[in-house]
Amino acid sequence: MTDRLLSFVQHPLGRRLARALNLPQPVTLARRQDAWTDKELAGRTVLAIAPASTAPMPSLLAAIVAEGGSSSGDAPVQSLIVDATGCRDVAALHALFEQAQHAVARLAPRGRVLALTSSGVTSAAEAACLQAVQGFIRALAKEIGRRGATANALVLQEGAASATALAGALRFFATDRSAYVSGQVLAWRKEPDPSTAASIDATDRVRVALITGAAGGIGAATARRLALDGWRVLGIDVPAARAPLEGLAREIGGALLAADLTAPGALDELIDAVRRLGGIDLLVHNAGITRDRTLARMSVAEWDAVMAVNLAAVLAIDARLDEAGLLNAGAREVCLSSISGIAGNAGQTNYSASKAALIGYAAARAAAMDAIGGTINAVAPGFIETAMTRRMPVMVREAGRRLNALKQGGTPGDVAEAIAFLASPGARALTGQVLRVCGQSLLGA
Ligand code: NAD
Repeated sequence: MTDRLLSFVQHPLGRRLARALNLPQPVTLARRQDAWTDKELAGRTVLAIAPASTAPMPSLLAAIVAEGGSSSGDAPVQSLIVDATGCRDVAALHALFEQAQHAVARLAPRGRVLALTSSGVTSAAEAACLQAVQGFIRALAKEIGRRGATANALVLQEGAASATALAGALRFFATDRSAYVSGQVLAWRKEPDPSTAASIDATDRVRVALITGAAGGIGAATARRLALDGWRVLGIDVPAARAPLEGLAREIGGALLAADLTAPGALDELIDAVRRLGGIDLLVHNAGITRDRTLARMSVAEWDAVMAVNLAAVLAIDARLDEAGLLNAGAREVCLSSISGIAGNAGQTNYSASKAALIGYAAARAAAMDAIGGTINAVAPGFIETAMTRRMPVMVREAGRRLNALKQGGTPGDVAEAIAFLASPGARALTGQVLRVCGQSLLGA
């Protein structure tokens, strides 16, 4: 769907007019959505600062080198990495202010800022100062968003600061793969034991991804993106979507199942299809529907339909796959939640409840996924330009697009890239979390 304002302000005259009328002036984002490479920072100028220490962590510097980042010299900085793990007192926060002010002045348009903090504290005062970094980054993200730039923070858990773990973080958060992810703070844990966790990452066999709702906007983009990385995709969607599903399967050499996940017998078909493919290495619970109505007017059918697709089907699929032992060692799982599940949305008690449920589910199921060396995370898109948002009334749609730090909607490809990241070796340290792909939506911020 065309964002006319975004196109309009790309022309100098349009930009001048938008400024005069005090309209938002979104910039075209820098996106990278191709297959993973060995050196994701290659060609990028990277600056690492450590406001509270003499130098950034050696493991961070090693990770930057390993990913091919080059030091910035005087050139504009494309990736600014702030080692804030030592920001544990007020004087250190002052140093953060001064050094970040200097460094951000050199940040290129559409640049990335990634701050690293720590969960290891010895006093409440230290905890306060480390948490100050989170507020700092969220506020900075709102300031630099109008230039198409982003800022995020990772809270390093004990043992999480190895060069390989940090390289994984840089591959997404310090590159254009995270174009529509901003203002986020995530826990980055110690990488699990590679002997089990690496199995799907190091395997020679073709890895299998099951995507529900694969014919839709985000599902199809995810299928295409994963295919670029060599995944074999089993796409599932309702029988009415058989034609686009077949087209997609042909295009990416995938398998398909045309079935309504809530219909009797559908899960038997799903289990048979998965068994034929030798189990699953990635499960993307993407199928979702809306039946918007205020609580007072909502029908039983509207409540039940949303719960059946968005929540009950997810729980039932997982229960069947667990029972049949069809999640391979090291498997990843991603549940498509929503900003509505975080912030709530008038007219969406059913949808918001179902999407909040998936956030709780991902957090609670992480231990079970850990037991097989895998991970599970929720991805919460904000306003994404798809058929779902095309159905919104015009004014609601326009507000949804602009109410974020980047002043524009995201694309299905932005969400697909986040899912591809969660499925990649670099993301083994992320589990039980919510990764918002929302341009730092003001809703639920
Ligand atoms: P979409 O409507 O384009 O695609 C959803 C797909 O799910 C459709 O192809 C649909 O046929 C399929 N589906 C629905 N019910 C099914 C069932 N019973 N069995 C099998 N397939 C079924 O929507 P989208 O925008 O691509 O959204 C994908 C996911 O992302 C959804 O879970 C949605 O709630 C979530 N999400 C989307 C946005 C957004 O802005 N588009 C924002 C937040 C969250």
